[in-house]
Amino acid sequence: MKKLGFGLMRLTYTEDKTWGNIDLEKTREMIDAYMAEGFTYFDTAWVYHGGFSERVFGELVAKRYPREQFQVTSKMPLWNMKDPAELQKTFDEQLKKCGVEYFDYYFLHALNRDVFATAENLGAFEWMQKMKAEGKIKHPGFSFHDSADALEMMLSKHPEVELVQLQINYIDWESDNVQSRKCYEICKRYGIPVSIMEPIKGGSLANIMSDAKKIFTDYNPDASVASWAVRYCASMDNILVVLSGMSNMEQLKDNMSYMKDFVPLNAEEQECVKKATELIKSTIAIPCTACRYCVDETNGGCPMKINIPRMFELYNESKRYGIASFKWHYNEELKKTGNPAECVECGNCQGHCPQGLKIIDLLKEVSSAFSS
Ligand code: SF4
Ligand code: SF4
Repeated sequence: MKKLGFGLMRLTYTEDKTWGNIDLEKTREMIDAYMAEGFTYFDTAWVYHGGFSERVFGELVAKRYPREQFQVTSKMPLWNMKDPAELQKTFDEQLKKCGVEYFDYYFLHALNRDVFATAENLGAFEWMQKMKAEGKIKHPGFSFHDSADALEMMLSKHPEVELVQLQINYIDWESDNVQSRKCYEICKRYGIPVSIMEPIKGGSLANIMSDAKKIFTDYNPDASVASWAVRYCASMDNILVVLSGMSNMEQLKDNMSYMKDFVPLNAEEQECVKKATELIKSTIAIPCTACRYCVDETNGGCPMKINIPRMFELYNESKRYGIASFKWHYNEELKKTGNPAECVECGNCQGHCPQGLKIIDLLKEVSSAFSS
């Protein structure tokens, strides 16, 4: 299997709501191009695109390609689940939406200590084994957002899982918050393969500061900046697949160009990445990946309609390039969405942030910076 996975969580948007604002025609073209080049792995989830990601997968992949030509992973949303019967109900609905009889891989979605406790109360790991015995899940696992200690605890209790999805990229590799390296090493010790999410850190590593970009282009003017981030991840051993949440054909074609006949980073390239990492890390104010879990309506959303990831993006840009150029964008955003100054501190957003960001405090910082 080729190591580039198609993440179906940042698909092209359109005004037409028929497919939950996903542009079906453009997505069809991308999927066909991806399959034509021999790539086969798709990653979706109940919550992606407000529930439409799984439907689009069913429509564009499962309906149109023989089952043996692709692998698909989906994920169980456990956050608000109380009744174990909901596991089966949700799963059966997912099989139907995706148009498949079984999932090649299936995850308990976004486990942290709290969600893990919910999973244990519901008997979710045991339920996955039952689905495996029935042939409806080939390889059970989980996607993960917490500290290395939490991962160690989970795997010591459930070493039977067959794949763990981790957030890994060159910026988070040594991060105190995400702890990518430590988590990766734990999986390796347990002999469990890893699938990698956020290799480009929500797209931010495709658009890095000019000094860091120069390190890459001086070494290889033909390689895209994003390619360094994806190849960095794919160069590791014990990796099943590196996911990229691709939004347009240009990104897809670029990714496929170097992942079709993948060559790992050499020692000099690894050194370039190390230098770029040091430069970039010195400028990121808020490490938001724009995953939008904090504002997703299926998670409850923000009652004040604050566009949290956009606020953080503008703040990060203002730190990098100066606040003056971004005040206009900030005020424009406030015409469409909620004002951070009006946050009622309900905490709904923070509980869903895989990066563990203190969103309430950070929004105060953003609001104060742009109001001064
Ligand atoms: S704490 Fe503030 S930003 Fe977060 S969901 Fe509540 S109102 Fe929205
Ligand atoms: S604040 Fe957290 S949950 Fe919200 S978009 Fe950023 S990383 Fe995702």
